Amino acid sequence: MDSSSSSSSFSSPSVVLNTGLQMPLLGLGTYKLWGSEQVYQAVDAALAAGYRAFDSAAVYRNEAELGRALQELLPKYGLTREDVFITSKLGPKDQGERAMEGALHSLSQLDLGYIDLYLIHWPGTQGLPVADQRNPGNRAQSWARLEELHGQGKLRAIGVSNYTPAHMKELMQSCRIPPAVLQVEFHPQLYQADLRSVCEEYGVCFQAYSSLGKGELVTDPVVVEVAKNYKRTPAQVLLRWAVQQGVPVLPKSSNPDRIQENAKIFDFTLSDTDMNRLSALDCQHKYCWDPSEVA
Ligand code: NAP
Repeated sequence: MDSSSSSSSFSSPSVVLNTGLQMPLLGLGTYKLWGSEQVYQAVDAALAAGYRAFDSAAVYRNEAELGRALQELLPKYGLTREDVFITSKLGPKDQGERAMEGALHSLSQLDLGYIDLYLIHWPGTQGLPVADQRNPGNRAQSWARLEELHGQGKLRAIGVSNYTPAHMKELMQSCRIPPAVLQVEFHPQLYQADLRSVCEEYGVCFQAYSSLGKGELVTDPVVVEVAKNYKRTPAQVLLRWAVQQGVPVLPKSSNPDRIQENAKIFDFTLSDTDMNRLSALDCQHKYCWDPSEVA
């Protein structure tokens, strides 16, 4: 972990990807941030609070709004394009032969010159049954197109999301360029031990989404009790639990106060006992989609 420089008093520490690129440990999730005004306000609050990474996707339908908000707001904070890390994702409808078109569409919607990290959002293909045997071929085709765009410098790093250990193994056996990141659901109720060791073995950065359990985990009694002991909020404890393990997080909020709250996770440390108490909540509970049946 090291700190990147910026004009603001705080900016998120970062991890180094297998491409050599630095990715902030803290990013703003943008799923369900809709419309120019809401996206602009959230990006403004996030930049002020020290966020330097933003996670979008073709299916979130906010790439254009995010790109525009950044172009307008970066100068306000004395920042340039190079100071921020933008992630987007190839939608399941573009998996396979439409992958090049889908990725180029994301690039033109964001209109920021390049995308720092572009992920295959989901191992399946929209419109195909999860067990359809065309899924592996479609994934391979998408990956080859992402590798091409990476070679052209348009996607500075490429990766995957919602892949299981079997999907990761398949990709590692066929890729020219290994994935830089695997983004999956991760929080104390879903510890993902198998996926984390696969990532460690392959040198892939394991990144968390839905760290707050889509907001539901902030009322978990153990989380609430730990938070009280540190005079922190449950959301801060959930995010700290992940980043203390070196796992990057992407909390989403449309509320400027919560955006700021969620950034204050680098100035306290959870004890080993409390880390273990939180990890013991693991019950394989998913708040999001389940990729385990995708062929
Ligand atoms: P999340 O970050 O776990 O939770 C977001 C919810 O928690 C929102 O309802 C938010 O409400 C609330 N919240 C935020 N901060 C809070 C706080 N301090 N206290 C109490 N409530 C708080 O859920 P998520 O959006 O599912 O995941 C985060 C991001 O990960 C997404 O936005 C997206 O970028 C990414 N993601 C990726 C995938 C994938 O398939 N790759 C899937 C899911 C998510 P307010 O907005 O009202 O504050």
